[in-house]
Amino acid sequence: MLIHFGGFMVKGLEGSSQQCRELLDKRWPEMRQQLLDWWEVHGRKDIAIKPWMFTADGRWPEPHEDLSPYGIWIAEVMLQQTQLRVMRPYWEQWMLVLPTVQHLAAAEERQVLLLWQGLGYYSRARRLHQAARQLAASPLPSSLEAWQAVPGIGRTTAGSILSSALNRPVPILDGNVRRVLARLHACLEPPHRAQASFWQWSEALLDPLRPRDFNQAVMDLGALVCTPRTPSCQLCPWQSSCAAYAAGEPSHFPVKDASKPIPFQVIGVGVVLNEAGEVLIDQRLNEGLLGGMWEFPGGKQEPGEAIEATIARELREELAIEVQVGEQLIALDHAYSHKKLRFVVHLCRWIAGEPKPLASQQVCWVKPEDLSDYPFPAANARMIAALIDHLRADMLSQRS
Ligand code: SF4
Repeated sequence: MLIHFGGFMVKGLEGSSQQCRELLDKRWPEMRQQLLDWWEVHGRKDIAIKPWMFTADGRWPEPHEDLSPYGIWIAEVMLQQTQLRVMRPYWEQWMLVLPTVQHLAAAEERQVLLLWQGLGYYSRARRLHQAARQLAASPLPSSLEAWQAVPGIGRTTAGSILSSALNRPVPILDGNVRRVLARLHACLEPPHRAQASFWQWSEALLDPLRPRDFNQAVMDLGALVCTPRTPSCQLCPWQSSCAAYAAGEPSHFPVKDASKPIPFQVIGVGVVLNEAGEVLIDQRLNEGLLGGMWEFPGGKQEPGEAIEATIARELREELAIEVQVGEQLIALDHAYSHKKLRFVVHLCRWIAGEPKPLASQQVCWVKPEDLSDYPFPAANARMIAALIDHLRADMLSQRS
């Protein structure tokens, strides 16, 4: 197959990658300008969209102006696994409550997790908190190496903080940038198998005079034009330099590994009430996606096991208590990127045994109206709403 690319004819998709790369190397200066011209008109240069990228008096910074790295650091960590439109209100609330690294260092972990509640991947919040306690006594780092030594910060987050805050010429490689580069080069390997090449391309392409604007511009191109499923190539400033467009198959890139089936598990959950009307909750160990969050106790259903038996067994194994498993309160499905869970939640009556945190950090009895003082993962928040509705309906039926 012959591909028309940047005024040249190159042969076949396989052969085109190497030839396209050589042609691209010669075109970097022109391409930088094309992208920055596009971004000046179409980029997300809006204080309502990325408030952390603006000066205190509400302007996009000039190349010689620095921004505070703290707000950018918080935004970048939130953006690691959460979309811009979802994380923005969380960032605004966070900056109201914890406006400086010293405020974050002095905060209690429960307050930090409550501010993060709903964003998922809670280890991010715990690592931010831990890092703030290490960094609060001195100015925030100003080198790539020092930022990469901070808990929870990898190369792309460190590069993003430095280029955004201090206009340093350091490359980034977030999901948007990776997709644009994969298409520009028609890369035949999945990005995670060709990391070194992707970093080289991001570095070579970066505008040395306007790195802050350039990195923002590539991310905006990926978010607005070179989108995952149907890229708008007719609007793209890099169309004439793009190997995937020349091949006629932009959405085939980035190349992916064959996907594995996502496992499905049923989780039995017990909402245990005592005679005082309090409910039993436990705090997860500080590990994994939901580390440090509070939850109603429970665990995985074994093959052939009735869900009531699962709940009674899990509560015995994890809390050393005996319960009578009652009616179902709610059943709900929750999907993570790597697994799907169905939670089957039953009301339970506490019969015997002082609760012990055998598989958690701590357990406590809480009045249902005080549950909002504890950070819970999203699925548990729906269980709490169902419990409050149930208790309210119960109270009304007793009155009538
Ligand atoms: Fe993406 Fe299309 Fe632009 Fe290539 S031409 S970078 S595929 S939007």
